[in-house]
Amino acid sequence: MDGLARALGIPAASFAATVAAYNQSADEGHDQAFGRTPLGLGLKVAPFYALGPAKSWVVFTDGGLAVTARMEVLGQGGRVIPGLYAAGSAGQGGVLLQAHGLHLCWAFSSGRLAGRQASIG
Ligand SMILES: Cc1cc2nc3c(=O)[nH]c(=O)nc-3n(C[C@H](O)[C@H](O)[C@H](O)COP(=O)(O)OP(=O)(O)OC[C@H]3O[C@@H](n4cnc5c(N)ncnc54)[C@H](O)[C@@H]3O)c2cc1C
Repeated sequence: MDGLARALGIPAASFAATVAAYNQSADEGHDQAFGRTPLGLGLKVAPFYALGPAKSWVVFTDGGLAVTARMEVLGQGGRVIPGLYAAGSAGQGGVLLQAHGLHLCWAFSSGRLAGRQASIG
């Protein structure tokens, strides 16, 4: 594992700790960190191979932040955070859209609403 960490250019100690935690989850059949299933047999028997570096090009969370009808972002306890507006995938109000075109439609319409609200305060 140390050699693999060196080849990848990542901190060996963190890598070893991550693999050990994963192996423990595989042994217990339960992934406490992420709830993944199935976990397989763990990473225990060499040789080990790595793919990468993996680069993330699509980075958004479907659902976004909770917002009011005026696109104001809601914070803890559902209270409006003054002066903070969200739109598009960042301000989707927790809704998972499941049809073609809805995301773009929401991006355009919510962006217009948020921009207008931000301009009038
Ligand atoms: C592969 C793919 C296919 C899709 N197909 C469809 C489809 O067919 N129909 C549909 O309706 N929707 C589709 N969607 C979803 C739709 O594209 C998104 O929901 C929509 O583009 C979200 O718009 P947005 O303005 O919220 O965010 P984005 O379009 O992600 O725009 C955010 C912008 O902010 C920029 N940015 C990020 N951080 C910073 C920063 N710190 N400083 C300055 N700029 C920053 C980014 O570079 C980006 O240009 C698809 C999405 C993906 C990934």
